[in-house]
Amino acid sequence: MYPYTAPRLLLTNRTIVISGAGQGIGEALAIKCAELGAKLILLGRTASKLQQVSAQIVAQGYLTPLVIPFDLATATEQNYSELVAELDNNHIKQLHGLVNNASIATDLKPFWEVTNQEFAEVMQTNVTATFALTKYLLPLLQQAPSASIIFTSSSVGRQGRALWSAYATSKFATEGLMQCIADELKDTSIRVNSVNPGATRTAMRAKVYPQEVVTNNPLPTEILAVYLYLLGDDSKGINGQALNAQ
Ligand code: NDP
Repeated sequence: MYPYTAPRLLLTNRTIVISGAGQGIGEALAIKCAELGAKLILLGRTASKLQQVSAQIVAQGYLTPLVIPFDLATATEQNYSELVAELDNNHIKQLHGLVNNASIATDLKPFWEVTNQEFAEVMQTNVTATFALTKYLLPLLQQAPSASIIFTSSSVGRQGRALWSAYATSKFATEGLMQCIADELKDTSIRVNSVNPGATRTAMRAKVYPQEVVTNNPLPTEILAVYLYLLGDDSKGINGQALNAQ
């Protein structure tokens, strides 16, 4: 697979949902996917950030994205149903990709200092909402001749480390969820995998590591190859894998 260079028209006629598309890795991935021909559905918490990403995509002459502000921390069953209805109202009858990218992290601290509420908030956004979003979008993914679901992991989703208890637990759960769904959907048109982006220069990284020299880490635009590989049909047959972006 490495090094993977995405063909110029890799994602033509493909419709892709990206959660957390308002900044960081989600933003960079959305713009790249639009450049490769995809129709984007930008999901995220802050409408203004999504609008700004959409404006960048439109300014470059790519397909106009559908912007859907959606708070994974508070979403109810009804909100998920409304989301599916909104896609239908916008004539979206099939999805070729779902990138579960949105996440939150607590500050680094020992587990005994993590409040129950903080732990629950991380699990809600990173795991429960990701589960629900994937479940509600599955029927649309099943309508596509070939579709790809990407879950976003972390190095601490594969090996636990001190001070990361809530976030690491959520990412281990994400890997487990990915494996279960991949197994359930094997031999279907949907492939399901996880990506660990690795240390990347974003707001989340800066919040967790305020002392770090940020230029030591690659920009989000520099770590996208594995996502593009998984979203395009060059990865057909790849299922249940835990991949690294770096
Ligand atoms: P950012 O914090 O820069 O971006 C996260 C995005 O998720 C934001 O757009 C944010 O929305 C959105 N989001 C957060 N909470 C919610 C919510 N309740 N509802 C909807 N959207 C929400 O993070 P990164 O780009 O760095 O991270 C992207 C993914 O990569 C995450 O899953 C992260 O865990 C993972 N990762 C990142 C690493 C890194 O070094 N950067 C390393 C390993 C993994 P808003 O903009 O409105 O706040």
